[in-house]
Amino acid sequence: MIRMILMGPPGTGKGTQAKLLSEKYKVPQISTGDMLRKAVEEKTKLGLEAKGLMDAGKYVPDSLIMGIVKERLALQDCRTGFILDGVPRTLPQAEALKAITKIDMVMELQTADDAIVKRLSSRRQCRACNAIYGVELKPRKKGVCDKDGSPLFQRDDDKEETVRKRLQVYHEKTKPLLDVYQKQGLLVIVNGEEPIQHIFANISAVLGQKGLV
Ligand code: AMP
Repeated sequence: MIRMILMGPPGTGKGTQAKLLSEKYKVPQISTGDMLRKAVEEKTKLGLEAKGLMDAGKYVPDSLIMGIVKERLALQDCRTGFILDGVPRTLPQAEALKAITKIDMVMELQTADDAIVKRLSSRRQCRACNAIYGVELKPRKKGVCDKDGSPLFQRDDDKEETVRKRLQVYHEKTKPLLDVYQKQGLLVIVNGEEPIQHIFANISAVLGQKGLV
């Protein structure tokens, strides 16, 4: 049973690691960013409310986020665990989450701001399956997903100015959560600047040590 939260600044590789973990340990990845992008694309009420905030690098209101997370965690596939990717991001979200479920571990992928800016400017994502490509993991054919042949796109919020804004918001609103989880004895820090497979091996080793897998 893995009930974990992946934390770290935007572009630290949470999505990439969450996908690898999800495949290996057969637990769902719950990415509020992916859920919101889908809502934006489908022009739902939630999507319409979220779009402007996301494009500006700002956070979507806590109540909207925790509404979709609560619904998602209630689904059958979360009964044997889940990987929360990009949520909680504020103290009220963490409080709300506590009332929904127990958490076994919080992992921070630590990456310096300068490395993030470099990384995000080359990041591309698949429209269909949300697979992520970048400097290290390039698609075999430029602009096309290896998995399903769908076109890759650059997220509007991966432009440098928005990335800097997102980092500022992360430092201000999300970093304080790390202290909270540290005090609860749940926080484990992993270096997010290593190659993808090293990070994955480190995370897997921690899960083993903690008896979660
Ligand atoms: P991400 O893909 O996790 O970087 O999320 C992309 C954008 O979606 C963020 O910059 C926020 O605008 C919004 N978002 C995603 N998750 C949350 C969250 N937990 N709280 C507030 N806003 C969020």
